[in-house]
Amino acid sequence: MEDLLRVEQLTKVYSFGSITSRVQLLAADNVSFVIKPGEIFVLAGESGCGKTTTAKMILGFEEPTSGTIVYKDREKVKHEKVWFTEAVQAIFQDPFGTFNPLRTVDRYFFETVQNYKPAQGEEAAIQFIDRTLRMVGLTYGEFAGKYPSEFSGGQLQRISIARALLTSPTLLIADEPVSMVDASLRMSIVNLFNKLAAELGMSVLYITHDLATAYYVCDRIAIMFRGNIVEMGGVEEVLMNPRHPYTQLLRESIPQADPAMRWKGRVNLNETEETEYLRQGCKFAGRCPAVMDRCIHEVPADIHVGDVLVKCHLYAGNGAPEQAEKIGLHGSFSTP
Ligand code: SF4
Repeated sequence: MEDLLRVEQLTKVYSFGSITSRVQLLAADNVSFVIKPGEIFVLAGESGCGKTTTAKMILGFEEPTSGTIVYKDREKVKHEKVWFTEAVQAIFQDPFGTFNPLRTVDRYFFETVQNYKPAQGEEAAIQFIDRTLRMVGLTYGEFAGKYPSEFSGGQLQRISIARALLTSPTLLIADEPVSMVDASLRMSIVNLFNKLAAELGMSVLYITHDLATAYYVCDRIAIMFRGNIVEMGGVEEVLMNPRHPYTQLLRESIPQADPAMRWKGRVNLNETEETEYLRQGCKFAGRCPAVMDRCIHEVPADIHVGDVLVKCHLYAGNGAPEQAEKIGLHGSFSTP
């Protein structure tokens, strides 16, 4: 199947400090992945791992230092800000920040319909908006003439999603879309992404720090750490049989239903974000319970272990070495 989005060796370098002590930080370091039509692909990792920087480069909000982004065989040209069409839409973390509190939300919808013309005339526009809102579990009657403050965070995030759907996107980029939504409503919105991808054939790039929601929403997942993709593959394979020590650490931080499944390994104390970004060898070396001498000086290669890509010296022999098996954990997820 043809790729819908292809990201190749995408790199973003930020420079800071004075002229005499300039420091360069690789916020995204040779990030490569593809998204297929109808697929939900997750970029996951803790805050500051480079996942949002990657999304911003794809959306044209940040200029990559190097690398290529190709959407449907059309490559983004350098310094091109609005390079994709209405077929790529974005949803952000804070639904209240998406809408002006002094405007009724329906005005955004009518403006979008006016610009992209999926329906002609007021009556047809209302019907079209109502049909779109019903896809996310709302109706035109429930939202017409209301201000953002009259909705809950969960309702407003559904409205953001419906607004994105007005242009019939083929790719939705959702950056932490449920992190500001009440925990009790999160799963209903996570399931909504699954439903929309299945019913509309739309692809989703879903960005999250939360592996539990990632597990429920995606087909494939890439785990990022300090600008690098450290593990990537099918979600079942990556999260149920994590190979990279960082993925294992992330798994360990998710509450497990069965205490016997908790990781018995040991994680060293956290370093500062900057120290990790500036490490010469493996950026996870300061926290890794399996660290070896070569990890300090040598950047690990991307190694294929079956269908999973792992960036770790433990797999240099291309197998599943004993050390990695020892610190592994297996188990099931509890609902977020
Ligand atoms: Fe740990 Fe070394 Fe693998 Fe990095 S390369 S994750 S330090 S074992």
